[in-house]
Parts: sequence; C-alpha cells; structure tokens
Amino acid sequence: MPGAAKTDSPLYSTYARAPLGFVRGEGVWLESTDGRRYLDCMGGIAVNALGHAHPKLVEALKQQADMLWHVSNIFQIPGQEELGKRLTDASFADRVFFTNSGAEALECAIKTARRYHFVHDAPERHRIITFEGAFHGRTLATIAAGGQEKYLEGFGPRVEGFDQVPFADHEAVKAAIGPETAAILIEPIQGEGGIKPVPNECLRGLRELCDEHGLLLILDEIQCGMGRTGKLFAHQWAGIAPDIMAIAKAIGGGFPLGACLATEEAASGMTAGTHGSTFGGNPLAMAVGNAVMDIIDDEDFLKTVADRGLLLKQELAAVADAHPDLVAGIRGEGLMIGVQCHKSNTDLVAAARDEGLLTVPAGENVVRFLPPLIISEDEIGDAVDRLDRALANLSGNVAAA
Ligand SMILES: *Cc1c(COP(=O)(O)O)cnc(C)c1O
Repeated sequence: MPGAAKTDSPLYSTYARAPLGFVRGEGVWLESTDGRRYLDCMGGIAVNALGHAHPKLVEALKQQADMLWHVSNIFQIPGQEELGKRLTDASFADRVFFTNSGAEALECAIKTARRYHFVHDAPERHRIITFEGAFHGRTLATIAAGGQEKYLEGFGPRVEGFDQVPFADHEAVKAAIGPETAAILIEPIQGEGGIKPVPNECLRGLRELCDEHGLLLILDEIQCGMGRTGKLFAHQWAGIAPDIMAIAKAIGGGFPLGACLATEEAASGMTAGTHGSTFGGNPLAMAVGNAVMDIIDDEDFLKTVADRGLLLKQELAAVADAHPDLVAGIRGEGLMIGVQCHKSNTDLVAAARDEGLLTVPAGENVVRFLPPLIISEDEIGDAVDRLDRALANLSGNVAAA
C-alpha cells in the first residue's frame, strides 16, 4: 500500500489552498485572520450573491434556527412549497426538486431527462450531448458530462451516455444526435471553462434542434443564473426556455442549496419513489432561499446588476488596454466577467490578492470576476484600481526578469 508521511493537515489534499483564511465578512469585504481587508470579487465562486452577512439573510436564518432545523422529506415542508412557487412563477418551470449542491441538481436533471424518455416508451434514449470546456460538477455522472480528462483520470470507467461536441458547434451537435439521444446539456455561459457566453443564436438553434428531434434541453445555470447576468436566468437574454434547468450557488447566498427546475412534461417520469435527498430542501435552506429570492427576483435589482456589469466590463477593458502585454481581452455578461491573460492567470490572481482583491482563475487563462451582485460603483472602481496595480506589479516583475 502506498504510504506517505503524515502531514500537518487532517484534510484531503484535493484543494491547492491559498495561504489565507477569513474570520468575517460584510458586504463585498472580507477580513482575514491577520486583520487585512479584502475586496471580494469572487464571492465564494458566484455563491455570495448578496455579499457577506446580508442582514436579511442573517435574520431569516436565525429566525428559522429558533423554530425548526430539519424534517424529513416524507413530511410537508412549507418553505419548499413557497420557494418552489416563486421559482416556477419566475421561470419556464412547473416543478422543482431541491438539492444541497449544483452537482446534485444536475444529477436530478440528468435522471429527469432519462426518465422522461423511459415513461414515453423510448427507454433507449439515454444519451446526453455536452460541450467541450463544460463544467457540471464532481460526482461520477457530472465529471462524465463535463468530459474533462483532468477530472476523470483515475476514477474508473466513466459513466456512460455523454457525447461531447466542440463549443457552440451547431453542425457537430446535429451530427451527434442519434436514436439514443435524450437531451442536450449546456451552460449558457461557461464558467469554469473561462467565462465563455454561448451566442444567443446558438441557444435558439439548440432549442430548435431539441424540438425537431424530441430532445430535452437542459441548462446548467448554476453559475450564470440567479441574477448574475442582469436577468434572473441567463437564457432569458436569448428569448428561449429550456425543459430542465439546474441552479445552485447564488440561490442559497452561502447556505448550501441547489434546485432542479423542469416543465410538467419534462418532469413526468419523476414519480413517487424515483428520486430523493435527505437534506435537500431543508427548512434552514428554504428560509435563506426565500430571503434571497425576495431581493434578487426584482426588476430594479436586476437592472442595477446589468448596469454595474456594464460598468465593470468597461472599466476592466480600459485597464486591459493599459496592459496589452499581459491582458488579451475582457469577456462575459453582467457581473460574470473574465479577464483573459496572455500568460498565467494564477499569477494575476495571486498578484491581485497581494493588492487585497479576491478573484478566481478559470480555463483559457482567464481571471474571473464574480462579485456579489450588491457591489457598488465605488467598489467596482476600487476593484479595478487594485487589478491595475496588480498588473503593474506583474509587468515590473516581467520587465525585471
Ligand atoms: C459550481 C458548478 C457546478 C457544481 O456545483 P457544486 O455545488 O460544486 O456541486 C456545476 N455546474 C456549474 C456551471 C458550476 O459553476
């Protein structure tokens, strides 16, 4: 048996953790264990949509904590009915299944699609078309869906039934559709892949292909949904509706919560006993989820997100222009913006951290900005100044090297 010496940490070594920890947060600011303040433009990777310690969320959680933490899903849970109604009223969906995470929401989406065809006399239809650069989570099925070798290696035979095609390649999708195809699964904006928006025409084309071939369109809006782009859901910009959608991250504002949304028709196979979760839709999560919806599902709030997104993108573009040696370009929608670097994105993330700015790397050498949706104009200016200084420091280093 391979044996390694004991390390200082009892934890799995799965995360390459930065040498930095935090004790408290307020709004877009985090305070580290050594008392430094950081401007948080990653928001726990698109999770802290309302910033840290939002008084309404704190209040909702505290109130629920005094009443009831957990009951089994074999009983009525009023908070689920309430949040479910609000999510379906605000979307294409008729039905909701609550989970604790994004990957679980996608597992539910995948099962929902396969069961739909099963109960419609086409059990052979189980394959799902996915896209290169996708990220759908870390469970066995979702790493197979994502198709990234670095996440699949060493974990045994990959879960069968996923066919991957190049990003936004309509012809390749067409060619991949066969008699066993059940669904198409796509992120309207690839997050981990490097903030790559799928063109609206492409989403509309996928909708048409699904209708033509009797397939279900599954959207992964775990990162780009819940107001991030300035609409409640990113696909709304394309004027289309999916059959099934996974959401998570921002819906809990920091409390673990995800959901799979579906039309009545798409969810028709998910009958009693076909799926379940011990913790999914727990009263604590529902209290917070409802409080998050109170704030985000609001036209004025979403309009402000869109405006702030535009401002961030413009200001980042100006900084990019000032550092053409390091930055190749800016891309993204709303408050989901990527700074594409010529060289190492992790160097820039580290340099920004030294300037008290938290960002997060993504594919294609991109540095992601996923700030809380409540970020102010001044805070955007502050963040961009910090990035500018980080880039200047890196240029200095590059020049000196
Ligand atoms: C984060 C993410 C997931 C996985 O969510 P977990 O909560 O980590 O399981 C899936 N898809 C997308 C697009 C994500 O950003």
